[in-house]
Amino acid sequence: REVATERAVPPPPAPDLPTVSSADRLIFPDSTVTKGDLAAYYAAVAGIMLPWTGGRPVSLVRCPQGRARACFFQKHDAGSFGPHVHQVPIPEKDGSTENYLWVDDAAGLVACVQMGSIEFHGWGARNDALETPDRMVFDLDPDEGLGFAETKKAAEHLKEQLAELGLVSFPLLSGGKGVHVVVPLTPRAEWPAVKDFASRFAQALSAAEPDRFVAQAAKAKRQGRIFIDWLRNQRGSTAIMPYSARARAGAPVAAPVSWTELRTLDTATRWSVTDADDLLARAGSRALAGWGIADQVLPDL
Ligand code: ATP
Ligand code: MN
Ligand code: MN
Repeated sequence: REVATERAVPPPPAPDLPTVSSADRLIFPDSTVTKGDLAAYYAAVAGIMLPWTGGRPVSLVRCPQGRARACFFQKHDAGSFGPHVHQVPIPEKDGSTENYLWVDDAAGLVACVQMGSIEFHGWGARNDALETPDRMVFDLDPDEGLGFAETKKAAEHLKEQLAELGLVSFPLLSGGKGVHVVVPLTPRAEWPAVKDFASRFAQALSAAEPDRFVAQAAKAKRQGRIFIDWLRNQRGSTAIMPYSARARAGAPVAAPVSWTELRTLDTATRWSVTDADDLLARAGSRALAGWGIADQVLPDL
């Protein structure tokens, strides 16, 4: 009987990707990750990243000279990223209209890297339903000095409180210091209602445990507490996208995990851009089956 070898299945043809200039440039000098490496990372994870990041407005953290030099947050563009990065016109509060960026394929991700991008942040709504969010995010920001153990416990607490309201949620390692608790939504409620829910939920948690949680952004109020950043849930706000690299030491990435796994982890920077193979294998594993998927709407509070 013939034994199937790794060669039995030919690899899919490489998609046409934009050329990356200065591919040898060290953009993570601390971990010898080059611009070419970052482009290869995004090309590799495109299939698991795009269901989350594609088809919605994205903002980019661009660091053209690498993460150790100046970085900036970019929301708008009128075409300088080339044909693989698209624009969606969005009316602003002041009545003007701005072109936001969006991508839908590996070429789009790589084109952003070519322009010096490291991080992808996304809206909580898709291009085809910009006013009705399809996810809510609670970004847990621990005060300096608080460890990952407290952050994990806080995430679990949010999960339980959301479950009491009938909402399923999923943890995302931010690739920085914290954990994001992601609540998928069937797009129905509009931004003001989602923002109102998120705000009241965060305030209720901090009112119940004021020594542990704070729902106000002011750093002075954080002192030994975890800020439940509910402000990601307003029209125009963004949050880091799953599998996005972070412009931080060690080239970490934002990584979906299961609630069970989260208990075993001791850092939000567990995976980095050198872990594409592991991330791909994990994405197809049982632990992450159904991550981020739930057909649910906000209850009345
Ligand atoms: P960490 O776990 O380290 O907190 P994080 O991604 O949650 O990582 P935050 O600073 O808490 O980092 O996130 C703030 C969010 O605000 C980001 O996810 C991003 O989408 C958004 N953001 C970051 N920089 C800007 C900016 N200059 N302008 C507007 N929004 C920004
Ligand atoms: Mn955060
Ligand atoms: Mn935050």
